[in-house]
Amino acid sequence: VHWDITVAWGYAMGAARHPDRPAIVDDDGVLTFAQVDRRTTRLANGLVGRGVRAGGKVAVLCRNHRGFVETMVACAKIGAHAVLLNTGLSASQLATVLREQEVAVVVADEEFTDLPPDVQRVTDVAELISEGAATPLPRRPPRGRLIVLTSGTTGAPKGARRPEPAGLSPAAALLSRIPLREGETIAVPAPLFHTWGLAAFQIGLVLGATLVLRRKFEPEVLLADVRERGCGAVFVVPVMLQRVLELADRDVPSLRVIASSGSALPPPVATRCLREFGPVLYNLYGSTEVSWVSIATPAELAEHPSTVGRPPRGTRLAILDEHGAPVPPGGTGRIFVANEMLFDGYTNGMGKEVRDGLMSTGDVGYRDGTGLLFVAGRDDEMIVSGGENVYPAEVEALLAGLDQVREAAVVGVPDEEFGQRLAAYVVCDRPGVLDPEAVRDHVRTHLARFSVPRDVVFLDALPRNATGKVLKRDLPPYPVRGET
Ligand code: ATP
Repeated sequence: VHWDITVAWGYAMGAARHPDRPAIVDDDGVLTFAQVDRRTTRLANGLVGRGVRAGGKVAVLCRNHRGFVETMVACAKIGAHAVLLNTGLSASQLATVLREQEVAVVVADEEFTDLPPDVQRVTDVAELISEGAATPLPRRPPRGRLIVLTSGTTGAPKGARRPEPAGLSPAAALLSRIPLREGETIAVPAPLFHTWGLAAFQIGLVLGATLVLRRKFEPEVLLADVRERGCGAVFVVPVMLQRVLELADRDVPSLRVIASSGSALPPPVATRCLREFGPVLYNLYGSTEVSWVSIATPAELAEHPSTVGRPPRGTRLAILDEHGAPVPPGGTGRIFVANEMLFDGYTNGMGKEVRDGLMSTGDVGYRDGTGLLFVAGRDDEMIVSGGENVYPAEVEALLAGLDQVREAAVVGVPDEEFGQRLAAYVVCDRPGVLDPEAVRDHVRTHLARFSVPRDVVFLDALPRNATGKVLKRDLPPYPVRGET
């Protein structure tokens, strides 16, 4: 089974087996499997009417709603590629991506006004659905791919081609560690354009699940949806979980799975979530390029709140040193992975480093004696201070554990004496509750001397991208030494 066939015919199979089961619940109401199947056939014909052909590209710039899902399915039905655009892209990034990807049509929500004037734009897929004929499409169209953009945390976003033969293995891998059920209702506040939201859609198709999608993430609305719709699972990014935990009423008895991914889950958030919601939290580590690498279960997180768990079925992990030799348990090295979901390279022709069939994740970390994986951070974020290696994630997790601290980011800044020194950007619950020395003291009591940030800057919020990732390059310039 090929993934694109799953996308194209998932709703058709659903329509045959359970036509009246809700497939999508969104701000505009409810659509059943039979309705999504019929609408996407019309949409596919409508896209053909606008000049889209097999092998052509359709870009999607949308919030989470039916139009997003239906465009992906319609593309798969005609063998067109769907390019999923991050809603946080700037006008110039959008122009570059659209030029590079040579898209035929852009399906974009009305609020996105920064599109270049020369693109063929569709604002409401309902128009194309009413234009398109209901004529059935060939059962075996040429294969279209999903092209997902990386988050652009470390530079310009890169287009990553999803692998062709992945089939059902992503779903099987996920289900080997997370108890999702056939036909259940899954709320997906994680953006669909990101590899994580897309994973929810993918798994939902395989399970014949009802997806609950909202254009905007509101913690109250998420919990109301879970309560009213009886959701068994939610797919979130860590900042969303943090916002949910700030709510007073968290009574959601139907919820069996909170799946968090996309960026590091701060250990205090994991601990709090387990305390408030019970043993339902799963932390997935992965990326656009390598799909999921490991999954931590509630039991593993209860014992080790900072772990990312173990590889799911069909995944091989290795921690390698800079020469490609395996690092023994406990030792920190570069994380490599092999599974059936590795991407096919960036659309610019580049790829990730591969050694003996294992692909680099771009992250460093270690496994303990029992095989649990811990991510120390991105390998290009490592700070070398006075010849010692420091990974910001370790210091960030420690700072996030302070009661007064809401969030923290640590970066390396040039230093005449040490080459680099650490600067910490800290967001507190209330202004003035901490001073720089208290922050340094806390680190000093837990970590080595070279991990203590010499500069401490208090901010109101950290700059984040549309998936809630901290954009370190957008932090204010580091202060002159001695200023704070
Ligand atoms: P770009 O490649 O454009 O800089 P990006 O790497 O941020 O973007 P993603 O694929 O969204 O794009 O991010 C994957 C990275 O996010 C991982 O390599 C890892 O550094 C981090 N990450 C994801 N999930 C977790 C997790 N559960 N724990 C720790 N880190 C995580």
